[in-house]
Amino acid sequence: MINLILFGPPGSGKGTQASKLVEQYNLMHISTGDLFRYEMGNDTPLGKEAKSYISKGELVPDSVTIGMLKNKVNANPDVPGFIFDGFPRTVNQAEALDEFLGSKNEKVTALISLGVKDEELISRLLERGKTSGRADDSDESIIKNRLEVYKSETTPVFDYYNEKMMARKVDGHGTIAQIFTRLCHVIDEVAV
Ligand code: AMP
Repeated sequence: MINLILFGPPGSGKGTQASKLVEQYNLMHISTGDLFRYEMGNDTPLGKEAKSYISKGELVPDSVTIGMLKNKVNANPDVPGFIFDGFPRTVNQAEALDEFLGSKNEKVTALISLGVKDEELISRLLERGKTSGRADDSDESIIKNRLEVYKSETTPVFDYYNEKMMARKVDGHGTIAQIFTRLCHVIDEVAV
């Protein structure tokens, strides 16, 4: 099984690239942000709870997020692997993922981090907000909060996998095709 964590700040292109990578490598894409938006769209209790955090640019509590992720993985036992997008976002989530995959005799293959400078992230997110209908992409103060939360709570996840020699960095600037090529080179190295 190939289990990739596609990592990077909001607006770094994880979702765009994950959609292309699933076709190339026949993996299943799990975006916790998409799962939350689906629940919010259906106004479920989980969606209502998530919305109170997402609307402020804060993280949904680990207990809720980890449970939702496990359900999604368990519901798809026959896929050849996963691309995790937007998960794990805390070290606690990373430890839970490792333990969960370990219980299935599986493991994370690699974490691949897309690097994009802050000014570009903010302009990409504001641009996306014009058409995505996402309230958290339309307000600059919420975007800045998301970037702050990324720096304080999520970047330690990179260090966590880097210490295990499992983290790789990819330049996230350039065209979608250029970034995709860079990602494929790294995946072809790590997923042997
Ligand atoms: P995203 O689509 O990945 O940018 O996620 C949108 C929002 O959903 C984030 O700003 C968080 O509020 C929430 N979210 C998504 N994934 C997670 C996660 N792994 N842990 C906590 N909150 C999350």
